[in-house]
Amino acid sequence: MPTSEPNNPFAEVNEQIALTGEILKLKPGVVAELCQCEREVVIAIPMRGLDEDVEVLTGYRVQHSSARGPRKGGIRFHQDVDLDDVRALASLMTWKTALIDVPFGGAKGGVAVDATKLTPLQREELIRRWTRSLAEVLGPQRDIPAPDLGTDALTMAWLMDEYNRIAGFQPACVTGKPLGLFGVAGRDEATGRGVAQIAAETLGAAGKPVNGARVALQGFGNVGRHAARVCSELGMRIVAIADVTGGVQDQGGLDVAALATLPTLGQAQLGEPVGAAEVLTVDCDVLIPAALGGAINEANVADVKCEFLIEAANHPTTTTADSVLRGRGVTVVPDILANSGGVLGSYFEWTQNLQEINWPIERFRSELNSRMKRAFELVVTTSQHYGVDLRTAALVVAVGRVADAIALRGSLV
Ligand code: NAD
Repeated sequence: MPTSEPNNPFAEVNEQIALTGEILKLKPGVVAELCQCEREVVIAIPMRGLDEDVEVLTGYRVQHSSARGPRKGGIRFHQDVDLDDVRALASLMTWKTALIDVPFGGAKGGVAVDATKLTPLQREELIRRWTRSLAEVLGPQRDIPAPDLGTDALTMAWLMDEYNRIAGFQPACVTGKPLGLFGVAGRDEATGRGVAQIAAETLGAAGKPVNGARVALQGFGNVGRHAARVCSELGMRIVAIADVTGGVQDQGGLDVAALATLPTLGQAQLGEPVGAAEVLTVDCDVLIPAALGGAINEANVADVKCEFLIEAANHPTTTTADSVLRGRGVTVVPDILANSGGVLGSYFEWTQNLQEINWPIERFRSELNSRMKRAFELVVTTSQHYGVDLRTAALVVAVGRVADAIALRGSLV
């Protein structure tokens, strides 16, 4: 199996793929193919700084797989971006798109830069240069970027504009665009809505009432905000929420709509104060980490009190913490299932752009709900069939689908 040095993120993902390959009895050559990225492009981006000197930034686009369709994945502007990180995230996109059964493969891109230090003009210049350098490998039928850490809908508007200058009018070249520029209603809430729905499905599958279930969330950004709102709409009781500035808790239930009007939660007077990290250890039925990777780890896992953990953030549970939780009987719903509403929403945007139609938001929501439910049920039955946890089952479904596509294409038999 081709891995880099031990303990790097791509090597960790590939270990999971190799284990899944054993469960599925895949041929070693197929596993080797799944552990490689199809194409890796590294670019130099000279940028003029505020002091007029030039700084050369490094940008990436890694395309992991196109076995099931055009590659799909976000672009992040963050100082920690490096090649192995982008490879791991590209591979995870392959599994996420396969699991949710959309006709995409996996990709990821980024620029190693502290996005908080960029002026709006620099941010625009950076995404335009990234797009110009990579235009040959991008496109609606090749590779479709989306926002990620440090990038947003406006960044995607600039990406679309730059790509369209080169290739002509093709709004489907990128997703997560603003509503006023070929974005679609429902996309902004899709990840959080999907997380809330998976929380409800998980409770239902365990025979627990959704109504009144106590939910704690870390993160009140795009994902956490919508997840909290939809959990409330479904009848769950939000007992704690925190963002990076801290937050509030109340076992009687918090007013999510009132909290959503505040710029940050640290000074909210709408419950007892709770710390940004402490929120993960509040007494609750359902815990939703919707902020950072590695949030639940060796240091705090002993204090985590939930019965159900819904991974809204990417990779919020370390491998060690995950096995501790499983040992305690906590049901962990993995990120590639729990937060896949985002890429599902991107698929709806792409398909509407290609067809030049607009769905009403009700259609967007009902398609999202039925597809998330189908994926959840398949992961549960796969977990029962193989006698494995939900994380392993999700990969069994996803890797199995990609391996089938490879075999059917005839590249490896
Ligand atoms: P965001 O930037 O909109 O919000 C992040 C939230 O986390 C903010 O409320 C921030 O204050 C909080 N936060 C940051 N550091 C924290 C800390 N140390 N303690 C407590 N809270 C902290 O980001 P987002 O789009 O909501 O994404 C959240 C997570 O979900 C990320 O891991 C992201 O990769 C993942 N994700 C997002 C999407 C999507 O569609 N946005 C899709 C899939 C996965």
